[in-house]
Amino acid sequence: MSVFGQTKLQAREEADEWRTAQRQFDLAADVIGLEPELRMVLREVQREFTCHFPVAMDDGRVEVFTGYRVQHNINRGPAKGGIRYHPDVSLDEVKALAMWMTWKCAVVNIPFGGAKGGVVVDRRRLSRRELEHLTRRFATEIGILIGPDRDIPAPDVNTDPQVMAWIMDTLSMHAGYSVTAAVTGKPIEVGGSLGRVEATGRGVTICALAAMEHLGMEPHRARVAVQGFGNVGSVAARLLEEAGCMIVAVSDEYGGLYNPNGLQVARLMEYRDREGRLQGFPGAEEIGSAGPLTADCDVLVPAAIGNQLTSRNARDVRARLIVEGANGPTTPEADEIFQSRGVFLVPDILANAGGVTVSYFEWVQDLQSFFWSEHEVNQKLQAIMHRSFAEVLKMSLEKGLPMRLAASALAVKRVASATRDRGLYP
Ligand code: NAD
Repeated sequence: MSVFGQTKLQAREEADEWRTAQRQFDLAADVIGLEPELRMVLREVQREFTCHFPVAMDDGRVEVFTGYRVQHNINRGPAKGGIRYHPDVSLDEVKALAMWMTWKCAVVNIPFGGAKGGVVVDRRRLSRRELEHLTRRFATEIGILIGPDRDIPAPDVNTDPQVMAWIMDTLSMHAGYSVTAAVTGKPIEVGGSLGRVEATGRGVTICALAAMEHLGMEPHRARVAVQGFGNVGSVAARLLEEAGCMIVAVSDEYGGLYNPNGLQVARLMEYRDREGRLQGFPGAEEIGSAGPLTADCDVLVPAAIGNQLTSRNARDVRARLIVEGANGPTTPEADEIFQSRGVFLVPDILANAGGVTVSYFEWVQDLQSFFWSEHEVNQKLQAIMHRSFAEVLKMSLEKGLPMRLAASALAVKRVASATRDRGLYP
């Protein structure tokens, strides 16, 4: 059965995120000439934990859910990574996301290792009570792994500050005192950081503007398409609009919108908050969830889920610049197509690292019980994102590497160095 000249098996293989993560790692390891022993170690995750746990549903039934927590590498500091709730979550996906977290923390040079977690669940089917019970039970299951100096979760797809507050409260109940630094992305009232909610979208925007400057693109002339209008996508759209760009296409899981004369982000946000979706927004053409990927634009921000840019649609992408808000939106096959077409791509492990950077600030503030102003948070974020973008660009230009490979090579080098320095135990 072939779809666009590709068999179903090939399409499935291309969409395998763990394979993508390992392929990206192999390329980076080649670039830095990594020794075979370290290659074996860093190519795998250190710990993978699976649990199956019961939750009492509102109608009296008990349902059993499956969840994962994976720690890829903890040589540079405690493990750090989000928790996602999605029906398609799998162990391989969580492993890939954990590995990307290791590289992400190393690219922006913050003292964390990489982790990720997930529960196989369709959040839309849960009542608030069910969501809370599922969260508290999952937090208890992974409680043997997580903690302020061991592994610190954060929000990801379909989890939010409220979910983080429940996780923090559950751990605190077990400990007998408040362990605020065990989770980041919390509400401000329970030890969250100002600026955290916007941090990922802000980092995406900082990278997009830095890349535009490098490419000689004027923000005021840039037309931007954004796939995914959640925490990352909607904030990036708003901040890019503030920087002068025109947002011409947006989408969420229910559908997409296009208007060549521009969409007003504040109105889109209001509409989404009221209707729960973008579909039906007046004055725009409906283009489907994947519509922004191939819309007529200059800058594309994929900010939804993984595997959106593949060998099937990469040739149809019109943007000159892609800034990855989502984790793993591009397959290696699509990467090759973008390289051959001269599309400039700012990879996820750099572009969306603003979230983990402000999570790091939140953790530091919690540990010190001393909180910063939003201005201070944003300034420090800006400094780290600018420095990291410049370091990756320098490596890319000096070694003639695409930005993804330059970022991975820089990150793998830092993690390998820490691993080498620490030596082999026992
Ligand atoms: P979110 O749940 O707030 O938003 C996700 C958005 O994507 C929603 O608008 C949803 O409707 C949309 N979506 C889902 N499936 C889609 C599809 N097939 N087509 C189009 N839209 C679709 O999640 P988020 O926190 O904004 O995360 C988005 C991406 O960014 C994920 O890949 C996540 O791993 C990554 N990320 C998030 C953070 C963070 O701090 N939240 C940090 C780094 C990376």
